Amino acid sequence: MQPTIIDSVRIFDGESTTGHGSVEFADGVITRVTTGPAPGPPASAQVVDGTGMTLLPGLIDAHTHVFGVPDNLRLALAFGVTTELDMFMGPPEATRALCDLARDRDDLADMRSAGLLASAQGGYPGNAIPTLPTVAGPEEADAFVAARQAEGAHFIKIMVDDGANHGPALPALGPATVTALVDAARRRGLLTVAHACALWSAQLALDSGVDFLTHLPLEAALDQAFADRAAAGGRAVIPTLAMLEVSTSHESPGTGVARSLAGDPRIAAFLPDDVRDAIATGCEGLCVEHPLPEHHFEYALSSVARLHRAGVPLLAGTDANQMPQHACPIVHGAGLHAELALLVAAGLSPAQALAAATSVPAAHFGLDDRGLIAPGRRADLLLVSGDPTTDITATRSIEAIWRGGVRFDREAHRAHTASPAAP
Ligand SMILES: [Zn+2]
Repeated sequence: MQPTIIDSVRIFDGESTTGHGSVEFADGVITRVTTGPAPGPPASAQVVDGTGMTLLPGLIDAHTHVFGVPDNLRLALAFGVTTELDMFMGPPEATRALCDLARDRDDLADMRSAGLLASAQGGYPGNAIPTLPTVAGPEEADAFVAARQAEGAHFIKIMVDDGANHGPALPALGPATVTALVDAARRRGLLTVAHACALWSAQLALDSGVDFLTHLPLEAALDQAFADRAAAGGRAVIPTLAMLEVSTSHESPGTGVARSLAGDPRIAAFLPDDVRDAIATGCEGLCVEHPLPEHHFEYALSSVARLHRAGVPLLAGTDANQMPQHACPIVHGAGLHAELALLVAAGLSPAQALAAATSVPAAHFGLDDRGLIAPGRRADLLLVSGDPTTDITATRSIEAIWRGGVRFDREAHRAHTASPAAP
């Protein structure tokens, strides 16, 4: 296949800016990265002039829910998200079919999935999903993990939540059961991710030895001892700040970084009308449905700052979860650009936030073929105007997206999805 060369471009390789240079790829794989003066391109190459632009690895959203809808993965790719880590969907046959589709189709983001999550009998969210298998106690942990592995789950998601953010408190997985799930997954070579959005559940998740915590408490910030123990234990955190910001919008309805995407023409012009309306007005349902007066987004920002200073790896994840008939303000693809801005607001440098959406999730989830601009990696690439390492919102000024070396037709996407009235 004819090689493509992106020339005279600023390169953020997933970890840092390596300077200006050129990146060549062919047959879906990066073949050469040159900084400084580039050798003349081969006559057969297709050359893209990257003057004034920055080339990044394709973005990885480390917390989404695809819910079986291929269009969600198409929307993700339209905003430069080339890989999504799905944190719960079913049924297993549908999950496997969608993972296969995402692997093979050039116009969808690729995905990995936890499949069905582990939760308590009569607990959240199984109380509303009767078919969801539950875990009655530590003695059932290994069989649960084995069943998910047999279904093709790429990692194990564990619900550590009593549902109190959604209504009356329900039974939750206890410490012995969560620890048994983590141990079973580790024996079987699977990573574990714990949903924890309260102080008690974050502490339980940390004590259990889970690899990743996702979400953050909203009733108080995590303290220094927590951050230090998480760092020493090699844990990583997927904060989902955009979703938490929206979930506390009783504090400032209709405002905030995540809501403001609906008014950013760089984002809004590429959204279907109903999705743009959902960003502006939709309600969050999956993590915090009924925020309490003591819930404040500032606590989540403080926790991120403290975890970051302590050296805990942070992964950008949105919790995008729109379904038909469920207007969710955190949408696939676009939402990650809000998450990046919120990570910067919490104290990460723009380059550190970009690493949280590229090299860091790739390294921590074993996605060794992507997440970096380096020879041999997949040509999952995002070309933007300006310099997102100085202005993080420059990630929204998308010039081109390649997935596995295939350029995504963004204008066709815009013509297909957006109404003429879109900004
Ligand atoms: Zn989620």
